[in-house]
Order: sequence, then structure tokens, then C-alpha cells
Amino acid sequence: MTTMTTSIARGKYHIWTVGCQMNQADSQRIQTMLDEMGWEETSMEQANLVILNTCSVRKAPEEKAHNQLAQLKHAKSKRSDLLVALMGCMIGSQKTIDELSKRYPHIDLFMKVEQADILPRFLEERWTPISGAGCLDIEFMPPDEYVPVEPIERILPTFATSTNTSGKRTVLPMAITPKMGERTAHYPTKIEPAKASPTAWLPVVLGCNKVCTYCIVPYRRGRERSRPVDELVTETASLVAKGAKELTLLGQTVEAYGLDLPGKPDLAELMKHLSQIDGLERIRFMTSYPRHMNDGMIERMAALPKVCEHVNIPVQAGDDEVLKRMKRGYTLDEYRDRITRLRALWPGVSLSTDIIVGFCGESEEEFQHTLDLLEEIRFDVVHVAAYSVRPGTVAARWEDDIPLAEKKRRLHAVEEVQARIAYELNQPLIGGVEEALVEEENDTHGRQQWKGRNRTNKLVFFPQPVEAGGESSGPEQSTPAARVIQPGDLVKVRIERATAWSLQGCVVAL
Ligand code: SAM
Repeated sequence: MTTMTTSIARGKYHIWTVGCQMNQADSQRIQTMLDEMGWEETSMEQANLVILNTCSVRKAPEEKAHNQLAQLKHAKSKRSDLLVALMGCMIGSQKTIDELSKRYPHIDLFMKVEQADILPRFLEERWTPISGAGCLDIEFMPPDEYVPVEPIERILPTFATSTNTSGKRTVLPMAITPKMGERTAHYPTKIEPAKASPTAWLPVVLGCNKVCTYCIVPYRRGRERSRPVDELVTETASLVAKGAKELTLLGQTVEAYGLDLPGKPDLAELMKHLSQIDGLERIRFMTSYPRHMNDGMIERMAALPKVCEHVNIPVQAGDDEVLKRMKRGYTLDEYRDRITRLRALWPGVSLSTDIIVGFCGESEEEFQHTLDLLEEIRFDVVHVAAYSVRPGTVAARWEDDIPLAEKKRRLHAVEEVQARIAYELNQPLIGGVEEALVEEENDTHGRQQWKGRNRTNKLVFFPQPVEAGGESSGPEQSTPAARVIQPGDLVKVRIERATAWSLQGCVVAL
């Protein structure tokens, strides 16, 4: 007789996610794995497995994770059927893992997304429900009846174990760089969004090779690794089959895509392949880096009708000395040139940027240069953050000499200037017609309406149109061939109002 485990007990999971789009994309992948294993999504309080997908880019999201960990410690002291896993940017080297496991011995698993394939084995080994209802399902059958359908690939160990200070075994991720002959960590490719969303994230290049002095990302996400074109095409086709209409290609420096792949396919070439997928309507990409985006690449992207005219190209500061201290690797003139070329080669392109205020030693004059740059370039959107010290980065060794109150003042000054510029840029859109991809229903202003985005990434709000003669809450909503709008529809919206942050109008064609 052979004893075979045909299934393990299933539990309930909760994934808590903070941070950037990359984290959201990673959480979706983990969710797919757990769903496929038969685990059920639930609230944090009910879960047997809580996964915290963390962000370290600034101090505030990291503090949120520490709060969650403190609460989970309390929950775990009362429940033996609870496992806690940590992933995302808070996990870096073995040193950071050791520090965290010392501080939080109740963390059962430290997992990088590229080692997510340890999850099934981890759960099999570590989770046993306390109630009899979900105990292991062991089946007995004669050896000759056990015929594997396909040859089983030998699975090399995918995780290492070590002993923490309390003597409890802790599962640790593999080393970031496997040794010769070791299995190479890979990014989970299977993704089944929990809710069919018309918009999807596609991480195309993982990690970052830049060494910006303020930034923790390269220390936590490792060096750049591009995913092969065929893998991305397959994944996109699967996302589109499930209802995705718009894809955002993600990378810390997205134009670095392919530099490490055989034949060096670049971002524009990847977009060409993805453009051929029927049913995919729009392709977006972020985050751009001025020195990697050459003219040829822009021209080839601009020539692809599915690629949307929007570029998120962080400048971080409007002063050369600050840029030098940040080690951004370009001068303001080089940045300006890139913007000029972008606007010349890609008519109608909209631009967003990231700014950090209050970086080490930023004088009033240097800060004023950032405000001047905003007036000069007139970005459509600016994401502004107050500098926050990230232990382990180069800048963490320098004095964080701008008081918090002053950082806040500068942050609000940026917001104020930008609100005016964005308002001015959006006014000429009134009276025109924008194509919007419908994302979801929205009732934030006490008025039921649809939310979507135009090609240049501006938010567009509009009500459900009704047929001429039908019930309507306003004459402007009447359209000859109205039908119920669905997320994923591409609709034409006549813009009637514009603020700094959004456009509002009514549907003129479905
Ligand atoms: N790779 C992109 C880049 O910098 O070009 C984005 C990196 S990061 C995930 C997103 C944004 O967070 C950055 O553009 C920067 O403005 C902000 N950021 C990064 N480190 C920061 C820090 N220590 N303090 C405040 N903001 C920070």
C-alpha cells in the first residue's frame, strides 16, 4: 500500500497591500496561487494566513506595517491556527530578515514574490487547522493504481530553513542570487484577477539598477531582471481573455526593459508584440527615466495606436545641485531636452512627474528652482512627497536637516502651484470629446456616475446615459442609442466641466 496525500486542508487568507502598483500586481499573483490551492479570501480577523505586502519607499507605509505586525502578534497569541507572512519592500537582505524576525518572532514566512512557489509547501508543512473539520485528507491505494499522468519534474528545494532566536523554525527565502547550478528564482506568471477588471498591471522589468541616494528600492528589490517577451505575451493574452482592456507595463525604469535579455528586445518592441493581441485596447507604461528613453524608442511607441499618450517621468527636483546629491544621473538641461523631444515626437502626450521636497540640504533657493521648473514644463500631474530618511540608503548617512514643518510647507507650495497649472491645462478640453475606458461606478459626490480615464490618463466622470424620451436626471444625459454601460466599455464623452483633477461630461457615443 502507498500512502498519498491527495489534498491538504484548506484555510482562509487575507492579503494586506500597501505601496505602488508593483505591489498590487504582486498581491494579485499571490491571490491567484492561493485561490488555485483552494484557499478562500476573507477578512484579516477571520484569516488563517495573513500576508502583509509591504512598502518601504517612505516611512509612513512602513509604520503601517509595523502596526499591523503588532496587532497580529496579539491575535497570534490567542490563535494557534494563524500564520503570518511578510513580503514586499520590507524584505531585503538576510540582515533585514534577521532583524525583523528578532523583533517579530511571530512572522512565520518571509517571502519575496519571486520565491512565491514556496507557498504551497510552506502551507502544507506549517498549517494544520485546530478543528477536526479540515484535517489532512490521506488516501490509501494500491501501488499499481498510482499512475502519474505526466512525468513529475524533480523539484529542487525552493526555500531554506533556519533557526531563529526562540528556537522556532523559520522559513526564509532563497538567496537573491542563486549559486551556479541552483534553481533560479522566478516571478509567478499565473494571474487570475479576483475581480475581472478592465485595467491590469503587467510587471515587465523587476528591480532597479539605479542608485538614487534617497531610495531604498534597489536594496529591497534587487537588480533589474526583465521578463521574456513570450512570457509577457502569454500573460497578456490570458488577462485579455478574462476581460482586461488596458494594460500598464511596470518597471522602476521601464525603458530598461530587455537590456538584460538575449537579443535585447526594447520596450517599444515588446509593445509591438502586445499590440497584436486582439481585445487589448490600450497600453500604458511607467516609470520612465530620461536617459533611457531615446528618440527611436519614442517614435516607435508613438506609432502604435494602442499605446496611450502619457508618460510618467520623475524629475525629483528642479535644481542641478540637488539632482547631483540625489545621484539621479542627469542634469536639468538633459531632462528638459528629453521633454522637448517627447513633445515634438509624440503630439498630445501628457506628462506626469514625481517630486521630492526637503531633501538633505535643500535650500530655499534650490526649492524655488523646483517651483520654477513646474511653471516651465507645466506637467499634467505631479506626485509630490516630503523626503523621508530610509535607513540603509546613502542619504541616510547625511543630516536630514529640513524640519518636518518646512517640508510640509514646501509640499503644499508644490501642490498649490500644480493645482493651478493642471486646472489651466484642463480648461481647453471643455467642449471636446474624449475617449474614456470605463473602470467602475463612483458615487463619491453623492451622485451615481461612472469613472473612467481618457487616453492621456485624466480621470473622466459621467452619468449613465438614457435613451431620448426615457427617464433622465438631466437633459444632457439623453442619447439616441443608450444601453447600460459596463466596466471595460470604451465610450466617447463630451467634456462639460474640468477641474485640476478630473473632467466631467456626458456620453455622446457608446
Ligand atoms: N523608480 C522610480 C523613479 O524614482 O524614477 C520610482 C521609485 S519610487 C517607488 C516612487 C517615488 O517615491 C519616487 O519617484 C520618489 O518621488 C518617491 N520616493 C522614493 N524614495 C523616497 C524617499 N526616501 N522619501 C520620499 N519620497 C521618496
